[in-house]
Amino acid sequence: MKKKFYITTPIYYPSAEAHIGHAYCTTMCDILARYKRMRGVETYFLTGTDEHGQKIQTKAAEKGVTPQEYVDEIAAKFQDLWKAMRISNDDFIRTTQERHVRVVQDIFTHFLKNDDIYLGKYEGWYCTPCESFWTETQVGEEHLCPDCHRPVHRDSEEAYFFKMQKYLPDLMKLMDENPKFILPISRKNEMMNTFINKGLDDLCVSRTSFDWGIQIRENPKHVIYVWLDALTNYITALGYDSKDDSLFKKFWEDPDCEIVHIVGADISRFHVIYWPMFLKGLGLRMPDRVFVHGLLDLNGEKMSKSRGNVVSPIPLIERYGVDPVRWFLAKEFSFGTNGRFSSELFAERTNTDLANNYGNLISRTVSMISKYFEGVVPELKNPGEKEENIRVLTEKTISQYEALMDDLKPTEALECVMELLNVANKYIEETQPWVLAKEGKTEELGNVMAVLTNTILVSTKLLSPVLVESAPKVYSSFGVPEELQKYETIHQFCPYAKLKVEKGAALFPRLDVKVETEYIDSISK
Ligand SMILES: [Zn+2]
Repeated sequence: MKKKFYITTPIYYPSAEAHIGHAYCTTMCDILARYKRMRGVETYFLTGTDEHGQKIQTKAAEKGVTPQEYVDEIAAKFQDLWKAMRISNDDFIRTTQERHVRVVQDIFTHFLKNDDIYLGKYEGWYCTPCESFWTETQVGEEHLCPDCHRPVHRDSEEAYFFKMQKYLPDLMKLMDENPKFILPISRKNEMMNTFINKGLDDLCVSRTSFDWGIQIRENPKHVIYVWLDALTNYITALGYDSKDDSLFKKFWEDPDCEIVHIVGADISRFHVIYWPMFLKGLGLRMPDRVFVHGLLDLNGEKMSKSRGNVVSPIPLIERYGVDPVRWFLAKEFSFGTNGRFSSELFAERTNTDLANNYGNLISRTVSMISKYFEGVVPELKNPGEKEENIRVLTEKTISQYEALMDDLKPTEALECVMELLNVANKYIEETQPWVLAKEGKTEELGNVMAVLTNTILVSTKLLSPVLVESAPKVYSSFGVPEELQKYETIHQFCPYAKLKVEKGAALFPRLDVKVETEYIDSISK
């Protein structure tokens, strides 16, 4: 594990209000960032908004506001959503900020001088919503955009181009030498077959047909075309090419910093092909991994406002708290695959994992300790085989969890913790504490309570990057002092003797699936 960690979400395009699909990627990044911080890794977590382009200019005009006013309003909504989702980002970059604009202009100047960019003429098939030119082969006979499948039209203009062939050998070398550069691995073949092997045209990096963008100093009728502007946010936010570039030095330039970009499939090729080439042109190091996450649909349909099937996380958070929402996103389907949101799945996921497994274990344990030991966690004395088995399983769970999280597999890591909790629930059935109490076997009974407490608190540590609201409540109901909340204590077995437990309200009340399904469906619009 590297000493530092820099993780980024895509910068979101603020042409529509944020919904649970946007929240998905940001939440997963947040979980990974919180996990790394918990492990003592110096972490920087960036998100933001991509605020230039024709589509924004058009939308602002439709609303009768300036493009800046338009993006200000939507960027604020994104920031509010991240607050509600308890996202722990260190910075929020907006591509209209001066700190970004100036550096992008410098980068463009550098590319011109470095002969990476030349002025030419672009002719091609243009998709207005995607702001992308496509080649004849890409649009096919039906002339549809390969990304969004909308009709494209013929267009041409004077434009600057980034030379794709110049750095292609570097890109191929990067892919060969770093087999985990694109994850999941299946995405690599897709990228090679769909784009690289078919031959790369030079990338158009300027536009003259609209002016809501970063102006090219050397030729002000051009604005910088979206990807050169957008992708560079990952370094401008760190202060690259600025007076204060301490964060850039600290994270980007340190070989002992792991750099991870999390992106959606629709923009993966820009991150996998163009971004490494831009970095090469700037003489900068490469990111370690570009992780392509899947898409979240609603009841099997793509979420979109025009279809009227968008779920906002806010009413869900208001009704259930933020943790069940974060839990659903992290746990329902494996990170990197496509997944589905539905009201039933949400209610069932909450019940199965949080109410029945984790929550139930906590409330049973707390009430047994209250009943049999006057609320004081007993000491582990002369543990038997069952206790030893759980100790071994706990250690195994911790190391599996760490390996999976480090490998960007949070869903599988959380599943390991759920299995440990399952075993602890079964351990109650096997040891039958109520019988031990009746028979006066106090030492055995105390051992069961000590082991259950340990399992709950180890699991709470492991789940804390996801369950940001509940973890502190669990610690408080077991009276865990700060020292023992630290991750370093996780390998101690049963260090919680003498803590005083307190019965509280159920952390995860069981949801009535029928009632909640109706409620959630009523708020999807
Ligand atoms: Zn398109």
